[in-house]
Amino acid sequence: MNDMAPSPSKGIFYNGTWQRPKDAQTVSVFSPATGEKIADILHAGPQAVDAAVAAAKAAFRGWSRTPLLERGQLLKRIAQALRDHADELALIEAEDGGNPLRLVRQDVFSAAAQIDYFAGLVTEIKGHSIPRDPGSLNYTIREPWGVVARIIPFNHPILFCASKSAAPLAAGNTVVVKPPEQAPLSALRFAEIVADILPPGVLNIVAGGGEAGARLTSHPDIAKIALTGSLPTGRAVLRAAAERIRSVQLELGGKNALIAFDDADPAAVASAMVGGMNFTWAGQSCGSTSRAFIHEAIYEDVLAHLKRRVADVRPGLPTRPETMMGSLIDRRQYDRVMNYIEIARREGARLIAGGKHPDDPLLKDGCFIEPTIFADVDLSMTIAREEIFGPVLSVFRWSDEQQLVRDVNSVEYGLTCSIWTNDLHRAHRMISVVEAGFVWVNETTKHFIGAPFGGYKQSGLGREESIEELLDYTQIKHVHIKYHSETPAA
Ligand code: NAD
Repeated sequence: MNDMAPSPSKGIFYNGTWQRPKDAQTVSVFSPATGEKIADILHAGPQAVDAAVAAAKAAFRGWSRTPLLERGQLLKRIAQALRDHADELALIEAEDGGNPLRLVRQDVFSAAAQIDYFAGLVTEIKGHSIPRDPGSLNYTIREPWGVVARIIPFNHPILFCASKSAAPLAAGNTVVVKPPEQAPLSALRFAEIVADILPPGVLNIVAGGGEAGARLTSHPDIAKIALTGSLPTGRAVLRAAAERIRSVQLELGGKNALIAFDDADPAAVASAMVGGMNFTWAGQSCGSTSRAFIHEAIYEDVLAHLKRRVADVRPGLPTRPETMMGSLIDRRQYDRVMNYIEIARREGARLIAGGKHPDDPLLKDGCFIEPTIFADVDLSMTIAREEIFGPVLSVFRWSDEQQLVRDVNSVEYGLTCSIWTNDLHRAHRMISVVEAGFVWVNETTKHFIGAPFGGYKQSGLGREESIEELLDYTQIKHVHIKYHSETPAA
């Protein structure tokens, strides 16, 4: 067992400390890379969820009245605490979540940077003044919602638990976070690290599965719900929110396109396909460009480069510093991805790389799959339409631009898109027609603090990583004041 991982005696984190509600259940946590048990933790039952919400509710008045700059300063201390514990958190997460140490360490720093960003934005929580008649004043103020539920997926646990708490906290809400059941340990350690920084009840972290998430989203004292997760869970959250007309923020799945025109450099496109697919995260990234549409004039050339480039990406044990690609999150996800690979073969896609467990004996007990690429994919195939959330890239050949646009936009998702061309006209034309919330031109994968991230269509509701996220955690109150506008005679 990992010495640093939280032990079950520590319990569920709410009201500023570890609690042991009667209905919490001990659950074992396993490393997806080795299959070994690494910790026992407590999962929240309904009582624990309710108690965490009650703690957040009790803390709301004090936190929402805390002076803005003081809230910002406390958030900056959290960011620094994360940096101070980066190595420790990264090791916990690499072992628990299966992603490479050097990448998850970077996630800790990304979380700290985002927290600093929102801490610095607190004075932007502004209203407007609305001109009207003499003797009256109209203005708006932005107020926090109350208790916010933040539900987190498995692919970036520490990044999301930490950074996605920042905007609601900066805006004066209190927060209950539910980390992913597959990789909860870094979030629990995060709770300990920040326990002394925030007043009790302001940030609560409740481990558990979908049932705990559902309890949280249907709780009457939750004022706003935010989910980063899959489309089916997004629908479940929206249904729960509909019962009480709650505000919802959703960051859901993607089946994103990379589009290469005939003037693009085939070597650069191949590198972008490997990078954009996030093979290093075993493809478990919502923004992955998992459908690559390559113009027929450069198609074979790109495939030749691609085979060479992808051969450099080999899975390894995530806790080793040199590892560049980790494992999938668990056996269930491994089986799911292997099943998609099997379906793709049956449906006639041409396998040009991977498609199997790596041969390395060190990896035999883990949920590893080699970077997998299918060429000659067409839209009738299952892998062309469904989000796999694993290391499987589908490559399509195209020749007609109008048909390309129809094909790119034919899926229910609309998160990201990466366009490769040196022609300004083509780039702008494509930007204006692709149905995606985040578009790169001659770039891929990167996020930029302050640049809104979020999806079109069924990829989500709302935008994050920007001022839009901060303002989303406020509601607007309009005020009308009538006053005597004539100066009384002396
Ligand atoms: P998931 O939907 O299975 O689980 C996400 C979270 O929701 C977990 O904490 C889970 O316990 C909880 N949950 C499950 N059922 C619930 C319910 N009925 N009510 C409330 N909460 C519930 O997703 P996952 O498998 O952990 O993550 C992968 C998915 O997340 C992919 O679809 C991926 O694209 C998406 N994702 C999106 C973004 C983005 O920014 N758009 C980022 C990362 C991941």
